[in-house]
Amino acid sequence: MLLAKTNPRHRAWVEINPDAIEENTKFIKSILSKNCSLMAVVKADGYGHGATTVSKAVLKGGAENLGVATLQEGIDLRRDGIECPILVLGNLINHDDLTACIDSDLIPTLSTYEQAALCQKIGKEINKQVKIHLKIDTGMTRLGCEVEAAEELIKYIDSQSNLSLAGIYSHLALADCSLNERSAKVTAEQKKKFDRVLKLITNRRNGVCKHLANSAGTLKDSELHYDMVRVGLALYGYSPIMQFQKNFALRSALAVKARVTLIRDVPVGTGVSYGHNYITSAPSRLAVVAIGYADGVPRALSGQLSVLINGKFFSQVGSITMDQLVIDITNSFDVEVGSIVTLLGSDGEKTITPYDWSEASRSIPWEILCGFKYRLPRVVI
Ligand SMILES: *Cc1c(COP(=O)(O)O)cnc(C)c1O
Repeated sequence: MLLAKTNPRHRAWVEINPDAIEENTKFIKSILSKNCSLMAVVKADGYGHGATTVSKAVLKGGAENLGVATLQEGIDLRRDGIECPILVLGNLINHDDLTACIDSDLIPTLSTYEQAALCQKIGKEINKQVKIHLKIDTGMTRLGCEVEAAEELIKYIDSQSNLSLAGIYSHLALADCSLNERSAKVTAEQKKKFDRVLKLITNRRNGVCKHLANSAGTLKDSELHYDMVRVGLALYGYSPIMQFQKNFALRSALAVKARVTLIRDVPVGTGVSYGHNYITSAPSRLAVVAIGYADGVPRALSGQLSVLINGKFFSQVGSITMDQLVIDITNSFDVEVGSIVTLLGSDGEKTITPYDWSEASRSIPWEILCGFKYRLPRVVI
């Protein structure tokens, strides 16, 4: 039997523009000092854009390092031929995972003495000097060792023959919020705690890479840059601080599109989709679009979503279902079966951003971007 290959644009798809990611990378590099390097964060399949596609684009744009969340994400990049330093930001807790991490030339993040001891043991077993980054919790209350425990842990790492402290870092908790007083205060407190830990490693011969800032910290304050910044969202074209969106030359790199598969003319009083949460108030022309919540369009957007066809907005009506959604095209005569619907991205002069979705569904752009599922082919343009 000959198995046919489907056209990636036959139903619904995500378009990725790696040139935009490369340009965003160059922009971020341009605001860093010469001595500050850039770690592009490509976890969660490059925020839904395709980790390998993104990695190649950011390396072309001048990023020197990559950050991933999981061991498998790092291994996948190595398998695809990515050779730069890669830091695993998540927590690896057992012998097998840490061995695979070190074997794949990925750098683990440590928060505890137990992890350091395990890495030392593995280093000895495979006769290798294991580079690690130590994470300090300065106020995120997630990964990292307590500030008070840092001195002892650093001493321990230094005393072990197979461990080398290549980096020390922390993560900002409030830097993605709007520019309010509380966020500024918490960030300042975190910086102060981080600086206290860094005092422990001054006067070292071998440089330890110090890093703290995510996209928000990077865009907001060069005092937070240290030796390296870890940037995710901004590389994909979105400022994490809404007030800053217009001030930066960031370009969105992703569009979500789908096709109209059926057009219906229905009378007044017709209930539409599950639950009949929408009932037509006049004779209406409706179009069925082949994309749904199983593809990553949040069901919470039901009845609040707008889409673009031929440069014009149309309202989505009724409940968004697993595989399709319905839009109202009454009085519009240029929509046909097969017409391309833009759910995110630009069509003509108009644009729909992840912020439009996240505001309407009480989410955040990060979650919207990494919500697009395997069922949507990534088409690189
Ligand atoms: C995800 C992540 C980042 C990137 O955050 P953005 O807000 O997308 O720039 C940086 N550091 C760590 C530890 C992360 O987990």
